[in-house]
Amino acid sequence: MSSRGTGRLKACVKCKALVSMDVNVCPVCKGTIFSTDWSGCVSVIDPEKSKVAQLLNITKPGRYALKVR
Ligand SMILES: [Zn+2]
Repeated sequence: MSSRGTGRLKACVKCKALVSMDVNVCPVCKGTIFSTDWSGCVSVIDPEKSKVAQLLNITKPGRYALKVR
């Protein structure tokens, strides 16, 4: 899922979940603060088996940014 068009996404500053620009509440942590200044994108399908997910403290499947400013 590293296709172009990621510029249309923003990242939750709390849990790093990537959501589309028209989302106002994070579906993962219910946070409301987002940043468009993020880099890296990782798709987590099975958080319990993903080392990346464990590293980033991701507990729910979805798309996440690696870095959020
Ligand atoms: Zn969040």
